[in-house]
Amino acid sequence: MDSLSHSTGDLPLCCPSSGQSCQFKDELLTLRNEVNDLRHQVQTDALTGLYNFRFFSNILPLEMERTRRAIQPLSLIILDIDHFKQFNDRWGHELGNQALIHVAQLIAVAIRKLDFACRFGGEEFAIVLPNTDLYQANNVAERLRFSIANSVLEVGNNLIYLTASLGVDEFKATDTDSPQGFIERVDAWLYQAKYAGRNLVKGPTILPVDTTTNVTADEKEALFGTFHD
Ligand code: GH3
Ligand code: MG
Ligand code: MG
Repeated sequence: MDSLSHSTGDLPLCCPSSGQSCQFKDELLTLRNEVNDLRHQVQTDALTGLYNFRFFSNILPLEMERTRRAIQPLSLIILDIDHFKQFNDRWGHELGNQALIHVAQLIAVAIRKLDFACRFGGEEFAIVLPNTDLYQANNVAERLRFSIANSVLEVGNNLIYLTASLGVDEFKATDTDSPQGFIERVDAWLYQAKYAGRNLVKGPTILPVDTTTNVTADEKEALFGTFHD
């Protein structure tokens, strides 16, 4: 007999809302906690504590769909640690793991609660930024690049510096890419960042806002009317 099949027999029936001690209620609460723990494990990367690739693969299409429906921008950053093979060769795999945790922590403190920081693969991370346009995402990516390049990993008497390269791009409501297509778009920018020398952010050119356009007297009048009708 499993633990949930006690509903007949000699146990007293009781209502979970009665406030009295209830074995069913206790078991349900235990199960609920176990489900929450399992859900956390299934979507979390065990080494870094960030979301894992499985979670990323689920959240990206959902957020792209939300963008299409709500007409809100969505951005994606892919970050890859530079020369990490050399790092492992020089400092060993265990320190390599510590470096991955270190970078994950820098990512976690640099983003908003609404963003999803995921371990994409070995030394690659993907950050999904809902309701964020390219300009804002580029700022986040640059902030991340800067914080990684300027933080030090202290190991004994050694001070270890790391850098990372980042690709960034935006998904607009009118874009037709599949999730894989959007990832490839950002990955291509990451490749550009590597190719251009690493420790760089690459993405589409952000056009400066045109502040030179003169507004005619008639347009000013019309705008004034709009706000004062
Ligand atoms: P690039 O600047 O072009 O990205 O060079 P790279 O050396 O970082 O890239 P490459 O793909 O050649 O090597 C990635 C390295 O990341 C090799 C692999 O041993 C290491 N790596 C992947 N996952 C882990 C991990 O979980 N722990 C550790 N310590 N190393 C890892
Ligand atoms: Mg890589
Ligand atoms: Mg790398």
